[in-house]
Order: sequence, then structure tokens, then C-alpha cells
Amino acid sequence: MQVEIITVGSELLLGEILNRNSLFLSEQLNALGYSVLYHTTVGDNIERLQAVLKQALLRADIVITTGGLGPTQGDITKIVAADVMQAPLVFHEEVYDDIKQWLTRRYAKPVITENQKRQAMIPEGAIIFSNEVGTAPGIAIQRENKWIIQLPGPPRELQWMFFQRVVAFLQEQFGNQGYIVSRYIKIYDLGEALIESKLIDLEKNHANPTVAMYARPGFVEVRLTAKGGTQEEAKALLQPLQQEVEKRLGRVVVSYDQENIADALGRIVKEKQLSISAAESCTGGLIGAFITDVPGSSDYFKGTVCTYTNQAKMKLLGVRKETLEAYTAVSSNVANEMAKGSLRIYDSDIAISTTGIAGPGGATETQPVGLVYTGVTGPWGTWIKKDVYMGDRCEIKVRAATKAIYYAVAYILK
Ligand code: ATP
Ligand code: MG
Repeated sequence: MQVEIITVGSELLLGEILNRNSLFLSEQLNALGYSVLYHTTVGDNIERLQAVLKQALLRADIVITTGGLGPTQGDITKIVAADVMQAPLVFHEEVYDDIKQWLTRRYAKPVITENQKRQAMIPEGAIIFSNEVGTAPGIAIQRENKWIIQLPGPPRELQWMFFQRVVAFLQEQFGNQGYIVSRYIKIYDLGEALIESKLIDLEKNHANPTVAMYARPGFVEVRLTAKGGTQEEAKALLQPLQQEVEKRLGRVVVSYDQENIADALGRIVKEKQLSISAAESCTGGLIGAFITDVPGSSDYFKGTVCTYTNQAKMKLLGVRKETLEAYTAVSSNVANEMAKGSLRIYDSDIAISTTGIAGPGGATETQPVGLVYTGVTGPWGTWIKKDVYMGDRCEIKVRAATKAIYYAVAYILK
């Protein structure tokens, strides 16, 4: 079944709010085996909504709208849908009672305005999704083999109605659409272009399963997706593809699915019974923040020293004045001494360090914005890595911290 999602609301077009409803519906519908082909966003305007609905009905089996089901004059989606589907609006006493009850439960002195009656006007023959978390009911209208499903705009109401009403409706009306299973392979050490060059034939050739890749902050995610009649069937399709992808990517894969790099580090250092610490300059404590986001990190993480000035680097980490003067704070030598300082003061097995230029100022002729030296030290010697990260200040910090944790993982797995 092919679906188009139409999100209605001028505030979406004005850039005032993020379109969370499209994201939510797409994710849920895809997981249920529906093909979402279009996302359309339109303002609260009768003519434009009419045009968009008509077009959507030509190219999708199911059109789902969100928003504009409220009681005000601006809420027009039901009126327009009723018109497009040629189903006159009729007053529903039960829906009106529901709305009155909801308002009575909620407010000590409910004011039931005349325009609330608008919410009880339902296109003739429509299926009604009663709403227990708000006033606007959802509806589903059929005309020949096309459906319009209308859901409320507030994400909390939409999500409630989807899980409590729409999932069962879809199952009943359209049956099982098959199962979609995805595997996310996260790669921290190769760029998107290089990864694609290794996987391009797979990316091009497969209708099912499919390969896609996305650049994320600090890593690239390769998504493998398969569709099958059962979950097992989908998984069986995925497995040989995953093996092939991993063979081509070599040993750079360290985390899957929901696992991020700090989770992977936690898993690996626990397995090997190692402890870890950090010394941070340009990442400003972000390495410590990422590592401590993982529950149970106190078992292996000893701490991070955030040394932003030269003086702090000398006093707290024992970085030598001569090193700072000879090479500047953003240098492999300082990254090296920072990592060793952290190892010493925390008495950890492994220590990571970062020093760099997060920007936008601070660049010199030889040191561009985004330049970061990362140190990793421990029982197998010391690694110093030099990278130049793209992005604004916050992005550079996130990329540098993510990569530093990756380097620690790579160091341990070497
Ligand atoms: P209400 O009964 O509250 O008026 P409604 O069904 O008429 O609900 P809208 O008036 O269109 O829905 O939207 C209500 C609020 O829901 C918006 O102000 C906005 O905050 C949120 N909202 C609407 N559409 C979206 C969307 N696509 N993504 C995220 N939030 C949304
Ligand atoms: Mg509204």
C-alpha cells in the first residue's frame, strides 16, 4: 500500500515548528510495511489544501493528514476532505457528548463554545477514531479504493491515536503488509564517499534488500533494509548482505543499530577489564559527557580533566612549558603530554586527549579551524592522530569527541 502524508499548518511553513508528525508517521508506517512515497506540507488554506489532497489521491492509496482538526475557523482539513471525497458533514451527537465530557473532566468550569460543535461534524460514512487525550476525533473516509485518514496535529494526540486506533484500523482494513527489518552499521573511520565506492553496486542493484548510507555527526551509517512476509524471512534476506558489506568494509565496523561509539567503548573496555580516562581541551568535557551517558560507566571511566588554558594544562596535567612554547597548545606534542598526564593522575589503563581549534576564531596560517590532535595512550604505546573537522563550533566539538572515543576503541581492538 502506498501512502502520502500531508501535514497541515501554516506554522510548519513559517519554520516555527519542526515537522515531527511526518517523521513519526513515516517511521511507524514503514515498520508496518507501508510504502510512504510523499510528504507534503501545506498551510491552513482551503484552495491549496484541496489541490494537495486531490493530487495525493491520484498517487497514493492512503492519504494521511495531520493538523487542522481543532474547533477554530483556521481548522479546515475535515471540511476540505469531506468536500474532496464528496461526503457531506453530518453532526454526530456521540462525538459532541465525548467532547463535552472531555472538557468537563478537564476543567472545573468548562466553557463549551458553539464552535466546538464543528468538531462533531463528521463526513458521512466516515470511521471515527475517538480521542481520549484531546477533543478532536480522528476520521477515516473511503471513496472507491482510496482512503483519507485525518489525525490531530498535536504530536502527543497524534501518537496516541496512531497507536490506540490507527494501527488496529490498518490491520483490519488492509491486513498484514509484511515486515521490514533494518540493520544499521556505524562506521567511524571512513568517509561517506569512500564507503559508497566500496558498496556502490550493492546500493544500485538491490530492490530488496536495500543499502543506503547517511553521514551523521562523526560517523557514517549504512542502513540495510529487507522486507519479508515474516520477520524471519526479512532477517534471512538481510544476513548475507550484511556479511558482504562487512567483508568489503574491513575491520572498521564497531557498532550496530542503537549502539553509539560510547556504548561500544563501554562494552569493549568491560570485556577487556580496562579503565579509561581523558584530558580535554577543545572538546570542553564532551568526551566525559558522552562516556558518562552510558549507564554503568563508573565501572571503567575514571574521569576527565578539562584544561582550557595553557596554565591549566601545565598545572593539572603536567604539560611542559617548553612544549607549549615550542609547538603551541594545538600540537601533537601537547596531545601526547595531555594523554600521559591523564593516565598518570587517574592511574587508568588507557587515556584519551584532545587539543584543537573549534573556531570560528583562533585559526592561523598553518592551523585551520577544525584542526584537532587526538592522543591515545596505554599499554600498547601512544597514538597521535591529526584531523581537520568540518562544521560550526558545536559540530566540530561533537565530531572531535566522537572520533576520540572511536580512536580509543580502535587502539584497544588493534
Ligand atoms: P487543536 O485541536 O489543538 O487545534 P489540530 O488538530 O487542529 O489541534 P493544529 O491546530 O494544526 O492541530 O496543530 C496544533 C499544534 O500541534 C500546533 O500548534 C503544533 O504545535 C502542533 N503540530 C501540528 N502539526 C504538527 C506537525 N506536523 N509536527 C509537529 N507539531 C505539529
Ligand atoms: Mg488547530
